[in-house]
Formats: sequence, C-alpha cells, structure tokens
Amino acid sequence: MTRFAWGAASDTGRVRTGNEDFVLAAGKLFAVADGMGGHSGGEIASHLAIETVMRIYDEGGRHTTDALVEAVQLANDALVARAIVEPDLKGMGTTLCAMALVDGADQPVIGVINVGDSRLYLLKKGELEQITEDHSLVATLERQGRLSKAEAAVHPQRNIITRALGIDQKVMVDSWEIVPFTGDRYLVCSDGLFNEVDDAKIAATLRRLADPSEAAHELVRLANEGGGRDNISCVVVDVIDDDHRSHPDESRVAAAVPGSDRVLHTVLAPRRDLALDARPDPASSGDLVDLVGPPAGRRKILTWRLVLFFVALFLVIGATVLAIVYVGTSTYYVGLDNDEVVIFRGKPGGVLWIQPELHEDTQVSRRQVPPALIAELERGKEQSTLDDAHRYVANLKQQVDALKPPPTTTTTASTTTTLPTTSLPPPAETPVGEVTPP
Ligand code: MN
Repeated sequence: MTRFAWGAASDTGRVRTGNEDFVLAAGKLFAVADGMGGHSGGEIASHLAIETVMRIYDEGGRHTTDALVEAVQLANDALVARAIVEPDLKGMGTTLCAMALVDGADQPVIGVINVGDSRLYLLKKGELEQITEDHSLVATLERQGRLSKAEAAVHPQRNIITRALGIDQKVMVDSWEIVPFTGDRYLVCSDGLFNEVDDAKIAATLRRLADPSEAAHELVRLANEGGGRDNISCVVVDVIDDDHRSHPDESRVAAAVPGSDRVLHTVLAPRRDLALDARPDPASSGDLVDLVGPPAGRRKILTWRLVLFFVALFLVIGATVLAIVYVGTSTYYVGLDNDEVVIFRGKPGGVLWIQPELHEDTQVSRRQVPPALIAELERGKEQSTLDDAHRYVANLKQQVDALKPPPTTTTTASTTTTLPTTSLPPPAETPVGEVTPP
C-alpha cells in the first residue's frame, strides 16, 4: 500500500496583513492555493477551490487524474458562480496546485494538477526537480528565451499570472502522473516561498531535515528571513511505502511506457489540457498559452467588454452627430440679411457648431416689409421645408403689394398719359391775368 508522511505550514509573511493562501494536507490529497481579489475575495477563492476539490475527491467513486482535472473545473465553476452571487467578490481568483494518490493504468500513481504559479517540486535521490510549469508572465518569457532564469527570479512583474481559477468560464488544467517510490519527497508551495528562497536552498533544506513538518516550517522561516513579502505556504510529502515497488520494478514501469525518457524521473507523461480536449477551443487555448501580459482570463474578458463598450460608444456618438447635423441643416427660415429678406438653410442662431447658410434671395427689401412682420423676420421665421419658405415669401410679397401706396402716388412715377389730367389744373380755370406778368 502506498503511504505518505507529511507536514504543512502556512504563514502571512512579514508584509501582508492577511493570508490568502490555503493549504490542504489530507492523507492522500495535498494542495496549495494562492488566492487574489479584494473584499477578502482571495481568502474565499483559495478556500473554496480546495474545499471543492477535496469534496469531490472524497465523494467520487473513481480516483483518477481525469477526475482531479474535472474537480478543478468544478472548483472553477464554483468560484465563478460565487462571484456572480456576491458582486463584491468579482475578480477573485486563485492558483491551485495539488497532488493526490489516484489509480493509474496498472498501479497507484500520484496525480498532479496545476493552474497558476504555485509549484510542485520532487526531491528524488537528493536532486530537486520542478514538476509543474508556472503559468506566469515571467515563465512565459523565460520559455520564449526572452528572460534568463535568474532574470525571471527577480523580475518586478513576476506576480503576474496567466492562468487562474475563477476568472473565466473555462480553465486550462495541466496534469501529470508520477509513480511514487519510497524515499521520494514532494513539496507543494506558493510563490511566497520560491520568490524569497532559491531552489538550491530549498533543496538543501529538504535534504537536511528528515521530518516533513519540520522541513515545511523551516522553509517558511527561511522565506520570512528572505523578506516575507508574500504569504508563504508549504506542504512536504514523503512517500514512506510503495508496495515494495523498489528499483527492480522501475524497469517494468519504463517498459510499460515505451519511448518516454521521463519515466527515469518517474514522470510517466505530462498530460495537458484534458478539460479542453472535452470541449476543444484551439483558438482560445493558443491565446492563453502565448499570452504575454496580465492574467489571460481577466484580460480576455476585459478586452471583449471594452470592444463592446467602444463600439456602443462610437455608435451613440455617431448617431448624435448625425442627429445634430440633420436638425441643423434640414430646415429653413426666412430672415434678414443686410436689410434684404432672404431664405436661410438651418436654424436661426445655428445649432451647436452648425451655422445657418444663405440659401436664396427673395428680391424683397426690409423697408418693403409690413412693420408687423419685421420683428418676426429679425428673429427668423422658421419653415420646415424649402417649399414652406417659398410659400411664406410669396405670401409676404402679396402683402408688400397690398401695402403699396394708392394709385395717385404710384401713377406719378409710372405713366405720362394721365399726367395732364391729374397733375395739372385744366387750362380753362387758369386766370389769364395771373399768368401774364404785370
Ligand atoms: Mn502568492
């Protein structure tokens, strides 16, 4: 029977006020979650994630690595659902790194699942190996050869992770299966440890202290000594019984998995993205892996919402501008321009930046306009269409005509035929004596 001995420690560190890490050490299941988010979202996220995985591992009939991956998906669902119910917790998330004894193809194995930048290390025959791959910005840059391991270790943005639980509807889960051998020592830890204590010192401590609990507490102490700038969590797990699966059996395991040189290190095969295999989405998985920047899920959501927001904003602005232009140019008014009555296109005084334009002259001048209409024309008499404006002007012209002085005054200027009878007295009535000078 495969059995473990273990010890765990978790500490707030020397800078933070609360501990958002959560640690589980439960006989066959060991996990570390590093939560984030305001309003105690981080504490809730890490706790909820581990609680969910533990419940499913305890309840579940089958103990397999696939079941562990499914449990992580369900934990993700639980976090997303909780954040919907409690808006204060929006944006909460957590890393999750766990190992559990599960049924392998032909023997018990250690199933490993990882999301985020907490880590699983294996100390085997005195050599420390990092099993998990960090889902972090600096780890991505390091894999791309753009940062050295030493540069990554001190990079100011090494806290930016590219995967976490609780951020998106789907979560990509890395998984491995490892054959346990007596004497192997595992370490599950949060970044608060390895950001303060380098791998050489972690390895030396794990070699030096035989008691797993003592080793876990010593690692926490060293991280605090190194600065303690983050919460620190460590679970040390020793394989103390492997059903006598000692070294002669190693060749049998190797033969069972042909072509895998990792068997020598007892890692049978890295098995990745199982959940996405069930619901393939190559486009988004590619984005997530290659993303350089803030946590992938969050960024994706933000980008999607921002695009929608800006599209809506531009539509609203565009519609508003069109409406203003329409209002400012679609109507006409009759007004005065330098004492001439004219038709303007637009609104009297303009609409915002749109000024009225002179559309046409009417051949009517200000002094011809009936006095009662002057004020109206000075304000500008609005017309909804050009035809209306023309009708108004035609009407105005009629009034102008009607107001013309009586025929007596007009005829003086118009004809000469009536001149003798109207402007001059009859010659017969003219006294001869007045005409003739004395
Ligand atoms: Mn942390």
